[in-house]
Amino acid sequence: MIVSCVLMYFFISHSAVSGMDGLQNYMIKVDPQDGDSPITFNVDPKALFPQFEQEIQETKESFLLRSVIATTIIILLSSVCTYFLTKKALTPLQKLTSEVSQIQAQNLSTQLPVPNSKDEIAQLTSSFNEMLTRLDNAFSTQKQFSANAAHELRTPLAVLQTNLEVFEKKQKPEMIEYRQLFTMIKEQTARLSQLVGTLLDMTNLKSVPRTDQVSLEELVDEVFCDLDPIAEKAGISIHFNDSSNQDLHTDVTGSYVLLYRAVYNLVENAIKYNRPHGSVSVSVKQENGQAMVLVTDTGIGISPENQKKIFDPFFRVDKSRSRAMGGAGLGLALVDSIAKEHRGTVKVLESSSAGSTIVLMLPVDNS
Ligand code: ADP
Repeated sequence: MIVSCVLMYFFISHSAVSGMDGLQNYMIKVDPQDGDSPITFNVDPKALFPQFEQEIQETKESFLLRSVIATTIIILLSSVCTYFLTKKALTPLQKLTSEVSQIQAQNLSTQLPVPNSKDEIAQLTSSFNEMLTRLDNAFSTQKQFSANAAHELRTPLAVLQTNLEVFEKKQKPEMIEYRQLFTMIKEQTARLSQLVGTLLDMTNLKSVPRTDQVSLEELVDEVFCDLDPIAEKAGISIHFNDSSNQDLHTDVTGSYVLLYRAVYNLVENAIKYNRPHGSVSVSVKQENGQAMVLVTDTGIGISPENQKKIFDPFFRVDKSRSRAMGGAGLGLALVDSIAKEHRGTVKVLESSSAGSTIVLMLPVDNS
C-alpha cells in the first residue's frame, strides 16, 4: 500500500509539473474567416504577464508540498485502518491456533467449537474436528491392539512362571516331571514366538514389495501341499476345484509370500473349525474384474453378528477352543490387512450350521 501511494505521488507530481512547464510555451492559432490559411504564432506569457513565471514556480512548490503532506496522511490513516482490520480478521484464526495447541494425545476426543460464520475459519474448524475424530479412532484401535497384544503375551509367560515356581519347590523331581516341564516350556515358547512372528508380520506388511505375478491356482496348490498332513491328522478331507483348464484370467499382482499366507490362514481355519470327518473345498473364480478364492467348509459356522468381528485383531468366537488350537485371533486380521494392501477384500460369503464360505477377492492383473 505504501509503495503504491508513493508511486502514485511521483506519477501525479510528475504529470502536474510537466503540465505547468508546458504553460510557458503558449501557441496561438488564428483561423481567418475569408478562406486564407491559418496563422500560428508563439506567445511568451512572461512578456504579457511579468509575474507569470514566479506564480508558476510558487504553484509548483505548494503543489509538491501539499502532495507530500496528503500522501503521508493517506499512508498513516490507511496503515492504522489496515492494522485494525487485519487484527479483527485474524482474531478467529488466533483463537483457533490457541485451541489447536491445547490438543494432546490424551484429549483427541475433544471437538473444537465451530463458529457460526459460514467463512473459511468455520470450514477449517469442521475439517479439523473430522480429522480429530479419525485420529481418535485410529489411536483407540492402536491402544486396544497393544493392550490385547500385551495380554496375549502375558498368558504364556504367566504359565511358564507358575510352572517354574512350582517345579522349583520340588525337593527331588522325577524324570517324568522334568519331561513334563520341558514339554510345557516348548509349547509356551512356540506359542510366544508364533504370536510375536504374527505381530511382526502385521507391522511390516507395508514394507513387503507387491510386484510378483501370482497365479492363484498355483498358490492354492502349494497351500494344499503344505496343509495336507495337518488335514489328514485332523481327519478332514480337502479338495481343490482346479479351474486352470477353463482359461479364467485369475492372475494377480502382489506379494506371493503375503497372498500365500492369506490363503493358508483361510484354509487352515477351515480345517481347524471343522467337524470330525468334515471337508474343505477351495475354488478360484473370476467375476467383474475380481479374482476370487472361495474357501468352503463343513464346520461349525459363524453367527451373523460375528461375521464381521472375526476379522478384528484378537477376536475369537470361542476363546478356549481357539487357544487350545494355538490361535490368538490374529489369523483373519492378518488376512484382512493383506487383502487391503492388495486393494482387495475378505468376507464371510455365507455361513450356517452346515458350514461357511469365506471369500478373498483381489483385483485381477490386466497387464
Ligand atoms: P485364531 O487364530 O483364533 O484362529 P482367526 O483370526 O484366524 O484366529 O479367527 C478368528 C475367529 O474366527 C476364530 O477364533 C474362530 O472362532 C472364528 N473362525 C475363523 N474361521 C472360521 C471358520 N472357517 N469357521 C468357523 N469359525 C471360524
